[in-house]
Amino acid sequence: MSTLTKTEGETAPTGPESFLSVSDLRVRFSTEDGIVKAVDGLSFDVARGRTLGIVGESGSGKSVTNLTVLGLHNPKNTTVEGEIVLDGKELVTATEKEMEKLRGNKVAMIFQDPLTALSPYYTVGRQIAEPFMKHTGASKKEARARAIEMLTKVGIPQPKSRVDDYPHQFSGGMRQRAMIAMALVCDPDLLIADEPTTALDVTVQAQILDLLKDLQQEFGSAIVFITHDLGVISEMADDLLVMYAGRAVERGSTAEVLRRPRHPYTWGLLSSMPRLGGSIDQALTPIPGTPPSLLNPPSGCPFHPRCAFTGEVPGDRCSTERPPLGEGRAAACHLTAEQKQTFFIDKIQPRLR
Ligand code: SF4
Repeated sequence: MSTLTKTEGETAPTGPESFLSVSDLRVRFSTEDGIVKAVDGLSFDVARGRTLGIVGESGSGKSVTNLTVLGLHNPKNTTVEGEIVLDGKELVTATEKEMEKLRGNKVAMIFQDPLTALSPYYTVGRQIAEPFMKHTGASKKEARARAIEMLTKVGIPQPKSRVDDYPHQFSGGMRQRAMIAMALVCDPDLLIADEPTTALDVTVQAQILDLLKDLQQEFGSAIVFITHDLGVISEMADDLLVMYAGRAVERGSTAEVLRRPRHPYTWGLLSSMPRLGGSIDQALTPIPGTPPSLLNPPSGCPFHPRCAFTGEVPGDRCSTERPPLGEGRAAACHLTAEQKQTFFIDKIQPRLR
């Protein structure tokens, strides 16, 4: 399976397995205070039937990347450079009309808050049926039957009567399921899930994650799963991209990145959150400082103002030289491969027990 195989700045080779290929993506916003570099040279691939997890703090560029893939950025104040190739079609240069055709049909998104996606004025059934009619030309009757079928699939009880309910008549977990039904009604090939379970309690969260896995098996969709929760990522994602300040700083298979992380920022993320199976008195160590302003990002390695390992790199390379992300399993950091391994084992791993 080909998934994460490119380096930053390369042109994306769109192989037959690479369903979504993002290459050297740069997204800039013009604001009153200057230009915000929200995404700064990002590359990744996702194959059909695979899930790519993207983790990072708020403002790391993960959500902007995915809104850009969907063409949902504001064209008036946003500049997009690089390539986004979906099933062989270039999206950066696509017209709004072409993007509209793709959204809901080939690509769908599940948001954190179902209330932003569901309108309070229409029944749940109508909101699931409408994109189906629009993209497939189905009749009202066929679309209603399809809405009931989708509500059944996502586990809504009594779907034949609940199809006529309004969103406020559904619980939070049911609304999230309804939004998933709406996102999947046209069998999209790519599903982007942005913190889809953050607002839900643990039991409902587990049910929704299981549901997404089952539906992926059934539809063979590629999934991009955005979250700050590494526990959820270890459940869901085959491959992992760690983002910081609009760039990818580490990537690899999820199992490898979580077992042997190589970037000081990934070490910080792991040390700052409770681990599944970790000891009950596990001390959490927050990453010092705050994420950088993307109006004026730090020179060199963007993580250097917060990094505890700059003294291990000779000279002032951390503050002057941007570390590249190598190919395949890689971390964008000036530490040597040996240092990355030794520091993790000696200094970080003991904290994670
Ligand atoms: Fe830390 Fe330097 Fe590595 Fe950046 S390049 S993560 S500042 S050690």
